[in-house]
Amino acid sequence: MANNEESRGLKSLLDWFANRRKSGTISLEPQEREIADGLWHKCSKCGVLTYTKDLKANQMVCVECGHHNRVDSDERIRQLIDQNTWRPMDEHLRPTDPLQFRDRKPYSDRLREMQEKIGLIDAVKTGLGQINGLPVALGVMDFRFMGGSMGSVVGEKLTRMIEQATQGRYPVIIVCTSGGARMQEGMLSLMQMAKISAALQRHRDAKLLYIPILTHPTTGGVTASFAMLGDIILAEPKATIGFAGRRVIEQTIREKLPEDFQTAEDLLKHGFVDDIVPRTQLKNTLAQLIALHQPIPTAPHMVLWESMSLSSTAAE
Ligand SMILES: [Zn+2]
Repeated sequence: MANNEESRGLKSLLDWFANRRKSGTISLEPQEREIADGLWHKCSKCGVLTYTKDLKANQMVCVECGHHNRVDSDERIRQLIDQNTWRPMDEHLRPTDPLQFRDRKPYSDRLREMQEKIGLIDAVKTGLGQINGLPVALGVMDFRFMGGSMGSVVGEKLTRMIEQATQGRYPVIIVCTSGGARMQEGMLSLMQMAKISAALQRHRDAKLLYIPILTHPTTGGVTASFAMLGDIILAEPKATIGFAGRRVIEQTIREKLPEDFQTAEDLLKHGFVDDIVPRTQLKNTLAQLIALHQPIPTAPHMVLWESMSLSSTAAE
């Protein structure tokens, strides 16, 4: 009985979504439609046509209005990491389907289709590399893979990367973009929030630097965990950053939310992020921040410090 009701409930929910999709209420993001594969790219914000080549040269930022188009993980690594220094980690980790989850189609089918379509195994790439000659551990989420959702593989890869960074004493940088925890892995997805946070705490205990970069959109379980745990939290201009979606909140509190709600700019105003950095300046900003947080070389410094303490003791 209960099972029947549950399946009826699930079915009607799926129908509801299907109807909405049919009626066109859920529309694709303009950016999605504007994949810059062709020769020209029409900006989804200002409508200006740009040579795709020029747009790519400007790191997918519109030269006219500064709109930040979405970039995939490979492109992001190219933008941030010095040439020939990228060493990927844990590329073999594959998602499984422990709950045998099924909505309109089985999760395992969804995964396979996604992997074939975009050539990624899951929604994050991790590795070691250099930014302007400074070694870093970098994780880059990819929104194309199931909306950058965080399941066991995303959690495990990020955790292993952070642990390796702690061991090797590297700063950690994570470029976040996510729709939240991956519902198809249920509780196992939620567990990743705690797992990554614990690894970050050990990294912090070792007095190492962690900088998350919040890109459009960063939401759900990612915002509720590692995206907000940085020593310095950076965001891209106009990125949507939040936990629950605007519509859900509006329906719950029965109030209209301000226009700039959940934007990087609004979060900066309220102290949730430390700075908004245009993508074209991101690499140099990161290099500066990392350089500022480099450990001071111990030996000569200690000698200097000891001699200073000695002389001050002598003066007393
Ligand atoms: Zn534009």
